[in-house]
Amino acid sequence: MKKTIIAAAACAVITSSAMANALDPNNPSGTVVDRFADIEVLRYTVPGFEKLSLDQKKFVYYLTEAALAGRDILWDQNGKYNLALRQVLEGVYKNYKGSRKDKEFLAFEKYLKQVEFGNGVYHHYSTEKFVPEFSQKWYDAQLQSLQKANPSALSKIPAGEMATLKRLIFDPSFLAKRVNQADGEDLIMTSANNMYEGVTQQEVEDYFAAIKNPEDPTPVSYGLNTKVTKINGKVVELPYKLGGLYSPAIERIIFNLNKALPYAETEKQAASIKALIEYYTTGDLRTFDEYSILWTEDTAPVVDFINGFIESYGDPLGMTGSWESIVNFKNQEASQRTETISANAQWFENNSPVDSRFRKPEVKGVSAKVINAAILAGDAYPSTPIGINLPNANWIRASHGSKSVSIENITQAYDDASHGNGFNEEFVIDEPTSQLMDKYLFITDNLHTDLHECLGHGSGRLLPGVDPDALKAHGSTLEETRADLFALYYLADPRLVELGLLDNPDAYQAEYYKYMLNGLMTQLMRIEPGKDVEEAHMRNRKLIAEWVLEKGAPQKVVELVKRDGKTFVKINDYRRLRELFGQLLGEIQRIKSEGDYAAGAALVEKYAVKVDPKLHREVLDRYAKLDIAPYKGFVNPVYTPVTDASGNITDISVDYTEGYLPQMFRYSEAYSPLTH
Ligand code: ZN
Repeated sequence: MKKTIIAAAACAVITSSAMANALDPNNPSGTVVDRFADIEVLRYTVPGFEKLSLDQKKFVYYLTEAALAGRDILWDQNGKYNLALRQVLEGVYKNYKGSRKDKEFLAFEKYLKQVEFGNGVYHHYSTEKFVPEFSQKWYDAQLQSLQKANPSALSKIPAGEMATLKRLIFDPSFLAKRVNQADGEDLIMTSANNMYEGVTQQEVEDYFAAIKNPEDPTPVSYGLNTKVTKINGKVVELPYKLGGLYSPAIERIIFNLNKALPYAETEKQAASIKALIEYYTTGDLRTFDEYSILWTEDTAPVVDFINGFIESYGDPLGMTGSWESIVNFKNQEASQRTETISANAQWFENNSPVDSRFRKPEVKGVSAKVINAAILAGDAYPSTPIGINLPNANWIRASHGSKSVSIENITQAYDDASHGNGFNEEFVIDEPTSQLMDKYLFITDNLHTDLHECLGHGSGRLLPGVDPDALKAHGSTLEETRADLFALYYLADPRLVELGLLDNPDAYQAEYYKYMLNGLMTQLMRIEPGKDVEEAHMRNRKLIAEWVLEKGAPQKVVELVKRDGKTFVKINDYRRLRELFGQLLGEIQRIKSEGDYAAGAALVEKYAVKVDPKLHREVLDRYAKLDIAPYKGFVNPVYTPVTDASGNITDISVDYTEGYLPQMFRYSEAYSPLTH
């Protein structure tokens, strides 16, 4: 059950056009801060921050400092030369004295913005290396000018590395992709991330097979906080810890966690922060599990955070965690929604359309709340999830439950930004469907996320003796498929109306239409022509949509129809569509519970990977005309302590005016312990 974060970029943003011009000049939520390449950078606001107590504000403040302190770690995990590259690019940019309208400069600026967004030289989503549109000649000249003007600017970069950086920028075949998932290739040798070095996939697998005990009922998350490499011909793990890799950054994280500690809201929260500090100090994964359990069980505090090596999408073998942090506090009103869902968790489990052998007799500890993010950092910045479900360790989830959150101020910013962008007019089949989506998509989208995170991932059980990793490379896709299907199935259940979560029994149709449209067509806008679908959430959506399209074809449940040469998704029978979602959920749960790798692989390969090139071209062309950025990310607010004459903090102010590159440059100056 690893990888349970919803990629925000994955969440198709299509909403109201009727609510156009909803952007309020006094409320910057959803404001476009920058636009380049395939990216739009938005602002989010932090409603409710001003209502926190002073102690809570201070707590948030120190935790945000601990969050920003880890930025360099992710950059280095994403690629060995990323930190050096950032220094060069930022140095050149700041030193540039020519025209800001110069073509080469503009191409360079775009590249710099892309690299800042990717936390390195690879696209955050496709993991492909960025392609520079400025010339080597221009780059050489700028570099010379920088070194002349400021000889010490790049002095920390080893002399031999400047040539490597040039190759990194201009040679497309050199360290081409951060995470390679192509079947049959050596996934470690062909992936350019910095979580492994000088080892083959076979060596890594043999190494972990030798130290794992398959009988251990409470295994640690092997490899979560280490780089695997070879010393004197022997495979070794180098831990990320105080005194180990990334020590200067970890030292600063610990410093700020200690500052935050006195403001912990409960004893358990204080204990979990102490355990986290201990884990950063020793690198001991047993301590990380202790921390995770304390954190999971502590549901009382208003302010909460994650800070560490968490999700493992960045590792083709799904072991090493990318560093990230999100600091947040509870959104009281919206949390009632997820509390209602959680309170009824057992009912949902008992009534799910899966074989009773695969159901959990007792659903444990489903805690769910809606939060507002106060800061996004590491792997959650600038691109960010809209929901989180942690911890990832299966045995902890089974015995201690999990925490599940939806980040409402982020979904709100997406929604605010998307009003009136022309998407519905282009892709939605008719006016009644559009109107239904205007009215119900925001709430049903949120409910879909809640159901996916609060119940979907936590539902079902493995049969005794089944290896949780039995689905191997397809595990993430099938896990997301399972959680999405659980959410889709229940979104149409009359129970949601009974529970007061929806006021119209047909509201679910808004989300069903969006889901099918996205899975069959519009998510293809993120794929380059000729490429396969690779990312787990995209595969999951394609799998579901293509499968129900095929199985429902005899009764024409869903069709792709042509109008004026354009393809549209047409849903003829919503009730039957729900039954098909339920049927597929039964099968996916069986595959997971039995560890049926062959059946899982067959489904993924048949429905989730290959793209119809004609339809793909059509979607790309129609989408291009709308000029909507396929990916979005955020700048953070700026928090500043307000002090009295004696230096005591009397308040924490929040500012929403910082620009995109200024924020990146400020972070590189003030929060870069690995380059200073
Ligand atoms: Zn998920």
